[in-house]
Formats: sequence, C-alpha cells, structure tokens
Amino acid sequence: MFKIGCHLSVSNGYLAMGKDAVKINANVFQFFTRNPRGGAAKAINEKDIEAFQALAKEHGIADLLAHAPYTLNPCAEKAHLRQFARETMADDIRRMEYLPGNMYNFHPGSHVGQGTEAGIDMIAELLNEVLYPEQTTMVLLETMAGKGSEVGGKFEELRAIIDKVMLSEKLGICFDTCHVYDAGYDIAGDLDGVLAEFDRIIGLPRLRAIHLNDSKNPYSSHKDRHETIGNGSLGIEVLKTVINHPRLKQLPFYLETPNELEGYAREIELLRGLYET
Ligand code: FE
Ligand code: FE
Ligand code: ZN
Repeated sequence: MFKIGCHLSVSNGYLAMGKDAVKINANVFQFFTRNPRGGAAKAINEKDIEAFQALAKEHGIADLLAHAPYTLNPCAEKAHLRQFARETMADDIRRMEYLPGNMYNFHPGSHVGQGTEAGIDMIAELLNEVLYPEQTTMVLLETMAGKGSEVGGKFEELRAIIDKVMLSEKLGICFDTCHVYDAGYDIAGDLDGVLAEFDRIIGLPRLRAIHLNDSKNPYSSHKDRHETIGNGSLGIEVLKTVINHPRLKQLPFYLETPNELEGYAREIELLRGLYET
C-alpha cells in the first residue's frame, strides 16, 4: 500500500487535519506540534483526538509524523535555549502519547560554531534526558542539508548521535530527499549507492519516514529550499524511482513542498499514478 500524504496545519485541531487528509486522498500526514517558530502548544482536547481517531480508523489514516518547531536547537550555545529544547521535546513526546505508536521528527540542531562533535554530544545529552522506556512514540532525526552549522548533513553524524543514546531503540531516521541531495548524496545519479551507504553507516531498519521534496538548488548546494514535485533539480523521474525503490516503497512519504491543500492534492494524485503496486 502506498502511504502518501503531506504536511497539514494543526491550527484547527486533529479532526480538521484528518478531514483535510481525506479530502486530498492522503493516508498519512505530518503536522507541527506547535507554532514552528516556537511558543506554547494548545492544550490537548481529548474529544478532538477521539473524533480524529474514529475518522482515521474509518479512512485508514495512520503513521502520523509530528514535527518539532524549527527553533528547537538541542545544541544551542546558550543554556536557556537548550533548556527550551529539552522542555519542548519532553512536552511534545508526552502529547504524542495521546496518539500512541506514531512518530516525532526533529532537526538535530545547529552547533553555531561550537563544533560538530560538541553539537553531537549536546544532542545525545538532550535525548538521554527526554526519552523514557515506556514511550510508544518513535523519535526521528531528520537528515539535513548541511546548511551553516547544521548537524546531521552526514550519515556519520546521525550515527554518532544514535551511538551515544541509551534508549536508541526509540530512535529512527527521517530521510528528506531535498536535504540529502543538497547535502551531497546523489540520489538522482545513484540512489542504490546512497541507500547502501545509509545501510552501512546507520542501518536501513532505522529508516522510518521519507520527506518527499524536490529541491530548488543543485546537487550538493547545502541550501535546503524545497521545490514542488517535478519542478526542481531532482525531477519527476528521480522521485518516481524513490517512491518505487524496493527498500523505500513501504515507508510513509510526506510532502513538504511549497503548496496549499489543492497543490498537495494534485501532487498526491500524480504520485499515486506513478506508484507501482
Ligand atoms: Fe524538517
Ligand atoms: Fe524535511
Ligand atoms: Zn527542508
């Protein structure tokens, strides 16, 4: 079964997101846990969650992916910013437990000049403080474009974080097609080679989700600007290969392309037509 969806707005609650997903023929979706620039999350509304769960069951919607705010930086230089990251992630995971067995994705962080190794240590330290044995939520590290001082633009960096986390069975990877291409992994020319490298360094069983995006910038540009499907440097043939790759095709795919709901509906329809069952 093709698991395809996109990023949806959480502002009207879970049931509203479920209805949006149904409207655009999505069976998975991503949402921000709170304002992507930070700030408090809305109180959990259990009635809304129950209504959403009924709708999700009826329509076969699963594999929810919550995305942490962009301002969450586990390896910020200032202690109060790291504290914000820790409190936010702990709160986000607790909230995700209202919808057990789903996923939470975050950008590993930017070391802001402190160095990659120091960044990796701080990211692992935060995870060691917030992960707990009973949680059912899988926490995903997102592959990054390697922009500025971002950690996570290399598979080795993600591996190093995982190696330092005690409850590493709670960790997985979200593979962003725009980011990895911008980071210098040639998924256009050699997808098999990139996945073999991923498998060797991190292990393919860690791979839990794909952010399916085209890129506005060329290979290895270290930029991170998403393009609509088929209109960027990756192009439709490459993205078709990605969704049909035997090691990827059973994973959930989430579009984060610059679109409103109608645009997402068209991209989902296009991709459904290209998916080989
Ligand atoms: Fe992201
Ligand atoms: Fe992404
Ligand atoms: Zn991005």
